[in-house]
Amino acid sequence: MSEDPLLGEACLRVSGVVEESIVDGPGLRYAVFTQGCPHLCPGCHNPQTHSLSGGRFLSVSSLLAAVRENPLLAGVTLSGGEPFLQPAPLCLLAEGVRALGRNVVVYSGYTLEELGDLAAASPPAARLLQLTDLLIDGPYVQALRDLDLPFRGSRNQRILGAAEIRAALGKKLAPFFLDIPPAPGYDPGQGASP
Ligand code: SF4
Repeated sequence: MSEDPLLGEACLRVSGVVEESIVDGPGLRYAVFTQGCPHLCPGCHNPQTHSLSGGRFLSVSSLLAAVRENPLLAGVTLSGGEPFLQPAPLCLLAEGVRALGRNVVVYSGYTLEELGDLAAASPPAARLLQLTDLLIDGPYVQALRDLDLPFRGSRNQRILGAAEIRAALGKKLAPFFLDIPPAPGYDPGQGASP
């Protein structure tokens, strides 16, 4: 049981976690691979994450406890699968991560523009975008595969900092966006260059 009543027993459906990753964003990261993906990109390296009914459940409080225990972590990466299928529990996780002074990287198979449309109809999705320090957007496109790209699989995918997310979506999502400063330890000026 969580010590924080707000977290309660909030759970995520996950495919798995990697407790120390150096390939899922800048610095040492706790990577959470969510279960369920609607994109079905040809050549996807994580096909086990596609099923909406696969994986297992982990509590948000247990994930936060694992992050808290490792002082070397720069932050947490939410990958998949498609994280935006589970925005509500991921918001709780992202808020907890930021409260620990760590940053939040999110991978999505949706483009930023598609996420804007999604978030306009879903306050939890808008909130998750707002809590994102770095977004890697778009599906994996086999024809644009590039092994030299840091943190991405294909050239269509972009690395977008919080300022870029807000510049693109701020007006559209203004009713949902609160004033949240960048997470400690994350330099927004370096958002696009890991
Ligand atoms: S979005 Fe990611 S997890 Fe989903 S099919 Fe594409 S590459 Fe695989």
